[in-house]
Amino acid sequence: MSNNSSIPLRVAKFGGTSVADFDAMNRSADIVLASPAVRVVVLSASAGVTNMLITLSEGNAAEQRTHYLYEIRRIQYSIIDRLSEKTLIRTEIDQMIDSIAMLSEEAGLATSLALTDELVSYGELMSTRLFFALLQQRHVAVAWFDVRQVMRTNAQFGRAEPDNHILKVKTRRLLLPRLASELVITQGFIGSERRGRTTTLGRGGSDYTAALLGEALNAGRIDIWTDVPGIYTTDPRVVPQAKRITEISFEEAAEMATFGAKILHPATLLPAVRSEIPVFVGSSKEPSAGGTLVYHDAGHPPIFRALALRRRQTLLTLHSLNMIYARGFLAEVFNIMARHAISVDLISTSEVSIALTIDTTGSTTTGASLITHTLLAELTTLCRVEVEEGLALVAVIGNQLSQGGRVGKEVFSVLEPFNIRLICYGASSHNLCLLVPGSDAEKVVRALHSSLFG
Ligand code: ADP
Ligand code: ASP
Ligand code: MG
Repeated sequence: MSNNSSIPLRVAKFGGTSVADFDAMNRSADIVLASPAVRVVVLSASAGVTNMLITLSEGNAAEQRTHYLYEIRRIQYSIIDRLSEKTLIRTEIDQMIDSIAMLSEEAGLATSLALTDELVSYGELMSTRLFFALLQQRHVAVAWFDVRQVMRTNAQFGRAEPDNHILKVKTRRLLLPRLASELVITQGFIGSERRGRTTTLGRGGSDYTAALLGEALNAGRIDIWTDVPGIYTTDPRVVPQAKRITEISFEEAAEMATFGAKILHPATLLPAVRSEIPVFVGSSKEPSAGGTLVYHDAGHPPIFRALALRRRQTLLTLHSLNMIYARGFLAEVFNIMARHAISVDLISTSEVSIALTIDTTGSTTTGASLITHTLLAELTTLCRVEVEEGLALVAVIGNQLSQGGRVGKEVFSVLEPFNIRLICYGASSHNLCLLVPGSDAEKVVRALHSSLFG
């Protein structure tokens, strides 16, 4: 499908820090207005708001509730106070905060994932209303759009999966026609299931929303504006010497996102890769500092590209003597996992045991553990189960890793001081994964970074 404008349209997404306060919102508005090709703006909640809403959804004591409601109101009011026309937007935000208060009282009686998603959605609803008001006051032809009209998902609250077909049809019918005359402001992260109840796409899901809308609109580019000027060789918060990668292939960036580089939600690149839409990552604080372009053919791929770190990993070790010569044991284990909607990450096997890791980081909005009593009970009918928590996964991302002789020297040689719980190497030529105690994770990343990129 092609859109009407001569330049392919762009979708721009701004994360929490880029809409944290009035000045940040204004800078983000400047970025949008500097690119006429940007027709859709996807926003996260203002920094910190989602975390507070999640806490409220956990059903707290009245005192704590009052504190978080006060904080949320303070963030919104600090933006409203700097707008020239305040009355209308203040009434709207007050109504939303009343709804948040009511829902958090409900959560005090009984919590549920559906209730959490409804509560949490107010973060994005408020930030988009405020940004919309700000642009209106800058005399921009702008529209506010409720993304739940098009972002149909399944009913897996907390980490809902979008229905691409419905999303495309509805986007083209309800959103596309508006873009010729209006700049559209909409929410990341939230969606709605068949019955109209609000869902969320998992923590950090606004990146994914931008990519999905970009795909549905046949965008020419997706811009992700955040608080760092691009994708680095590793998280610059962990290794300040990390270097910016100016161009990176879809595959490499997708590996980084999958293995925990928080800069992109793990699913962000799926739509972009499928539809070959370049993704730009830059900092809304320093838009002129450049950034990273993720696209199809990003130059000569190096052996070592980046390091990613994913915390809160769980290792399950399953022991059974029946495994020797047995057939179908693994299939049974995976069936149980599938019934519990758990995706297994790394796996290593011996004759009488299997070790597998499960990712429990931000996959759900609340970060609730995926290992339930029922899951363990079912696995125990097959084998003896050991659970180790608090581990971290360090992934070396690169190209043709399984063929290069440099891995032994440059990766394994620096690991000597550390207790490496599990290694996965050889299945993919793009990654080498190490499971380490959570307390060693940053040290391992620093040691590897200085060996591979120093
Ligand atoms: P936003 O709210 O804009 O979505 P996030 O906090 O989700 O921002 O993502 C940006 C953060 O990702 C950065 O501040 C940085 O600490 C972290 N990060 C992790 N890995 C990388 C990496 N390889 N390159 C750049 N930033 C990274
Ligand atoms: N506001 C949501 C979160 O904090 C989504 C996002 O920021 O992408 O997870
Ligand atoms: Mg993010």
